[in-house]
Parts: sequence; C-alpha cells; structure tokens
Amino acid sequence: MPHKITLIPGDGIGREVSLAAVRCIEATGVDIKWEEVLAGTEAFEKTGELLPQSALDSIRKNKVALKGPITTPIGTGFRSVNVAIRQALELFACVRPAKSYPGIKSRFNDIDLVIVRENSEDLYIGIEFEQGKPETRALIDQIAKDTKKTIRADSGISIKPISKFATERITRFAFEYALRNNRKKVTCVHKANIMKFTDGLFLKVAREVAEEFAGRVTFEEAIVDNMSMQLVTKPNKYDVLLLPNLYGDIISDLCAGLVGGLGVAPGANIGTDSAVFEAVHGSAPKYKGQNKVNPVAMILSGVLMLRYIKEAKAAEKLENAVKEVIAEGKSVTYDLKSDPLDPAAVGTKEMADAIIKRCKG
Ligand code: NAD
Repeated sequence: MPHKITLIPGDGIGREVSLAAVRCIEATGVDIKWEEVLAGTEAFEKTGELLPQSALDSIRKNKVALKGPITTPIGTGFRSVNVAIRQALELFACVRPAKSYPGIKSRFNDIDLVIVRENSEDLYIGIEFEQGKPETRALIDQIAKDTKKTIRADSGISIKPISKFATERITRFAFEYALRNNRKKVTCVHKANIMKFTDGLFLKVAREVAEEFAGRVTFEEAIVDNMSMQLVTKPNKYDVLLLPNLYGDIISDLCAGLVGGLGVAPGANIGTDSAVFEAVHGSAPKYKGQNKVNPVAMILSGVLMLRYIKEAKAAEKLENAVKEVIAEGKSVTYDLKSDPLDPAAVGTKEMADAIIKRCKG
C-alpha cells in the first residue's frame, strides 16, 4: 500500500524546492501517492482564497503533508497561511534540527541540536489591538484601573498568552522526543525573570514535567538572551532546546545560521493527529523561477517526514546522499560555495539530480 501524502508546493521558490524534494524522496524507492493541493498565492489566484478548506481537509485525511514555503501577502488581513495551517490542525510542536554537515563552511563543525518550539500560542495567537482604535484605548484604561500602571495612550498592544496545558504538552513532547532519539538533555529557554506570569509559568510547568523524566533525560534552564550568547560561542553544549513560540522562531533561525544558513535547515510541525513537514526558510520571492536556491532544507524536511512515516531506511539513504553531495562540494548551490558568485555553483534542479544519483547508486 502506498503512503498517501498531501503535497502543498507553496509559492515563490516553493514549487522549485518542493519538486526537488519530491523527486529525491521518490528516488529512495518508497511508495508514495501524492495528493497535490494549493495554498498561498497560487490558490488565491485560482480560488480567491489563500488557504482553501480543501487543503486542510486533505491534510486531515492523509495525516501527513510536505509543504513548500508560502508568501504572507501584505495588507490582505491574513496574518500567515503557515501559522493558520499550524493553528487549524493543532500542530503544536515545531521541531527544527540544526546539524553540521561536513563540507559546509561555517564557524562550527560539531553541532547537533534540535529545537522544539511551542507552536500554538504566545505572541503568535494573533490577538492584537491597533494603535488609536477605541477598543485599544478601552483596554489601556482597564489596565490602568486594574494594575495602576500606565501604558502610553498611543500604543499598540499584542497579547502573549502562555497556558499550563500547552506548556505541559510541548514539554512532554520534548522529553519523549529526547528519549526516542537517544538525546540526553533538554534545555528550557525563557525570560521568566521579566515575564513572570507567562514565561514564569512556562518554566514552572516545564520543571514539573521534567521531574517525570529525571534520571533518564537531564533538564537545564537558560534565559533567552544568555542562550543567544551561549549558542554563538558554545553551541555544541546543547542537545534539545525547548522554547515558547516566539523565542523558538528567532533561535531556530540563529541555529540555522550556525550550521550553514536557511538553505540547509529543515523543519516539522507535529500535532496529535497530523504532521506537516517544511523548510525553515520562506518563499524568497526574489529568487522565484531562477532555479537558483538550495533544495536541501526541503529535502531534509522530507528526511524527517520519511522517519515520521516509519521509513527509516529510506530516510537514512536520502540523508546520506545529501551528506555526500555536500561533502563533495561540486554539485551544490551558490549558498554553499565559499564565494556565492562562484560560476561553478549549480541550480536547484541539478543539486537534486546529484542527490538522486547518490540515492540510486
Ligand atoms: P526567506 O527565508 O524567504 O528569505 C530570506 C533570504 O534567505 C533569501 O533572500 C535568501 O537569501 C535566503 N534563502 C532562503 N531560502 C533559501 C534557500 N533555499 N537557498 C538559499 N538561500 C535561501 O525570508 P523572507 O524574505 O523574510 O520571507 C519571504 C516570504 O516568505 C514572506 O512572505 C514570509 O512571510 C514567508 N515565509 C514563509 C515561511 C513558511 O512558508 N513556512 C517561513 C518564513 C517566511
């Protein structure tokens, strides 16, 4: 029986990198029946909707999706299709490995850490009060009444909710992930010294859940600003990082930079019922249609997907093929060359071709 998987090619560079990933995944020999659905700019042009119900229905039905990056159009009132998918399907855990591959020019060559980011709340909840609106002024007045503290009358306000429920769920996920993947330590990253009732709660609940895993996985804590400094000086000290939504977003880009950039950073959004695999990078519209960008982040997202659908051998084969092509350094895109203007850099399709050849060879 083939695996049925939803494919959302995405827009901008999405279609180029998704197609490269699909070809590489198929080269492993795994039997997959793709169900292609549109979301983002292409969907908007055809249906007038950025996120058609059919796309969500397809993921709900197949339970697994591979998704290319999608542009967030400015001024449509839609915050982000990507965030909307994560929220609609309750994909509460964002998993982003950051791993050094030999051959990638980077400050460090021994990084192997995994970011586990809470995906469902925090400042991403999308509850905001616009500067100057009557409801914003009413909120400011209410806050002054309740707290005796003043917010400037011309402020905008974004709400940051952190719940016990979501923190318990993501912390348990991080520890179980650590156990399943033979990882030794979970570091909880926070700013509890300043935001006592949100980050403070996150830390308190994380500590409680950590006790259930005592003796099996070590638990550590770090304040997010100090963590940023630690990561750019001693990143190899870290194993699994557990973070609320916003810090997780920022720190995962930082970690992508540590291991060679967005071109090689894969990701997964995992919920109780379904999972969506996608690169950390966005749709890089300026490179659309140029056959230029690195397909590796999408291909490695495919590796995570293969592991998730229990095709571990195929996952290993594909990851090794990527490793070999990067280590050889010949058939790689501009971003993996020491000089990005190196005329010997190959295109998206050609790098995928080289990976496919290794997979089949
Ligand atoms: P981006 O990641 O699209 O691009 C930033 C820069 O990173 C690019 O200009 C390029 O230099 C480099 N880059 C990105 N991907 C690369 C690759 N595969 N190979 C080589 N270099 C690569 O970020 P952005 O410009 O801030 O966002 C563009 C759009 O993408 C926005 O609309 C944003 O909302 C959206 N976005 C989508 C997702 C997603 O679909 N999950 C994630 C982030 C951003």
